[in-house]
Amino acid sequence: MSDEHQLAVNEIFYSIQGEGYWIGTPMVFVRFAGCNLRCPWCDTKYALSGGTQMGVGEILEEIRKVARRQIVPVCLTGGEPTIQKIHTLISVLHTAGYRVHIESNGTVAPDEYMAADWITISPKTYSGILTHPHTGALRSANEIKVVLDSDASVAWAKQFEPPALRTPTHVCLYVQPESMRPEMMDLCVQFVKANPRWRVSPQLHKILNVR
Ligand code: SF4
Repeated sequence: MSDEHQLAVNEIFYSIQGEGYWIGTPMVFVRFAGCNLRCPWCDTKYALSGGTQMGVGEILEEIRKVARRQIVPVCLTGGEPTIQKIHTLISVLHTAGYRVHIESNGTVAPDEYMAADWITISPKTYSGILTHPHTGALRSANEIKVVLDSDASVAWAKQFEPPALRTPTHVCLYVQPESMRPEMMDLCVQFVKANPRWRVSPQLHKILNVR
């Protein structure tokens, strides 16, 4: 297998998807190192830089190892996976029989990850900073997930509801309470009651105390 380029990986582990449409589903997570944003409430700060350089073949072998040779979905996450050249990895994983999911902050054009089977775009706003998701990223999304961290973030979330920004009409829409704070959980509940196209996504992995 060709390992012509290396990718910066923070960790590879087998757990359950804790958020969004696939919540509760067993998956292997490939957490890439590095991110182009710095959200103050980021719960993977340990992955914002550094990482171990791994070839595509090494990553595939580690996925097989942690999943005990079972074929389960593989979720590419971070950090921010889309700032690296991941197209070849997605192709290799497909050839090996894996379904590929990706979680991105949506700031990068989808060229490298269009082939993924499930695309989660999670646009970020924090401390008055509004990041601008790439329109192509939004249009490629199967799922949009917005973290509510203040009353101000409610209006930010609403802008992603189709047909605004030409997001796909079939897209799944989630709001997620920042750091599972009780006041943000309440804000999420109030939000979906007022905007019934949306659902609340808790962070099940934190409730179950798994990675
Ligand atoms: S985009 Fe995600 S990984 Fe990057 S700083 Fe924000 S929460 Fe952390």
